[in-house]
Amino acid sequence: MSSTVITGIGELVTCDGTGPDRLGIKRDAAVVIDDNLIAWIGAAAEAPAADTRIDIEGRTIIPGFVDSHSHLVFAGDRGAEFAARMMGKPYDGGGIGVTVAATRAATDDELRRLLAARIAELQALGTTTIEIKSGYGLTVHDEVRALQIAGEFSGETTFLGAHVVPAEYAEDRAAYLDLLVGPMLEAAAPHARWIDVFCEPHSPHAFDAEEARHVLTAGAAAALGLRVHGNQLGHGPGVLLAVELGAASVDHCTYLDHTDIDALAAAADATVATLLPGVEFCTRSPYPDAARLLAAGVSIALATDCNPGTCYSSSMPWVISLAVREMGLSPAQALFAATAGSAQSLRRTDIGRLVIGNRADLAVLDAPSYLHLAYRPGVPIARALDLHGIAH
Ligand SMILES: [Zn+2]
Repeated sequence: MSSTVITGIGELVTCDGTGPDRLGIKRDAAVVIDDNLIAWIGAAAEAPAADTRIDIEGRTIIPGFVDSHSHLVFAGDRGAEFAARMMGKPYDGGGIGVTVAATRAATDDELRRLLAARIAELQALGTTTIEIKSGYGLTVHDEVRALQIAGEFSGETTFLGAHVVPAEYAEDRAAYLDLLVGPMLEAAAPHARWIDVFCEPHSPHAFDAEEARHVLTAGAAAALGLRVHGNQLGHGPGVLLAVELGAASVDHCTYLDHTDIDALAAAADATVATLLPGVEFCTRSPYPDAARLLAAGVSIALATDCNPGTCYSSSMPWVISLAVREMGLSPAQALFAATAGSAQSLRRTDIGRLVIGNRADLAVLDAPSYLHLAYRPGVPIARALDLHGIAH
């Protein structure tokens, strides 16, 4: 394998946890990459020789974004639903059924083509790791094929058969639960790293605490890691359930009380609160108070929740700008949450931080510092640094 030295780095943001802001910023630094791993970081003047040299001419290098929550395998279009919601129609999770119908009707090649285009889009925005959930198939066949297609693009695949109860089971939820934790889980588990559940008693389409516990317990027994959609539409049991069962992440956390925050703080090494402010933006909902969570000692992550209903954006820079503008995070806290924080939510230590031995997943910013991520909302300054033309 060939080695590459990256020079001309105006600001190197390692997110290695050091320094007052945990960003581990280095100036006049160089990075050497060997066999797709970070082999050396140090002063540019002392950089060892390498086969290839890339001069980035004063730009900023950051860890590639880790987007730890997405629903990218789908077909169909819900632009009209978004427009109606902006004109005052409330969201209750029911639009998922529209995407389920369109996704079931799509061919494998169509789903693969749509997913590939979305992956290219997010890499062009600086994301180098993407978690991808199933959940728009909701039959054994359609969930398995969604996970198989997702697995062609990412190792972080999540079985979300517990997204909603599909329309054909609306009158018999128990039968769907039996299918979900039985044949569907058995078929899906070999193609998934995680299991997730939309625990939301405020939605008639989603799952209550007892149902969610049943799904997660079955998933754990099938050796899947646990993730939870919780406390999105109102205060609910999702956060406490996630902490109790040792989930790696509980996502949304829009409505939290003191008990939830205390539990998340006590479980900060195990369970990450993943915040998805793009959803609040696109559903015109109140934002969670991320600064309060950090002050309490909670581990937080930022992700897009890119999906066709409540946030059709794969832009992590936009999520960072929302987190700073609307949730009280500093630009440093937001960048850390979008890289090292979201890596923690996937229980990964080889990504999200630029340290020797980690994956060489780098993003480059057309900017003199990382501050421009929040400072220049909507401007495409970030992109994944493509060393070898290999997507992963
Ligand atoms: Zn989601």
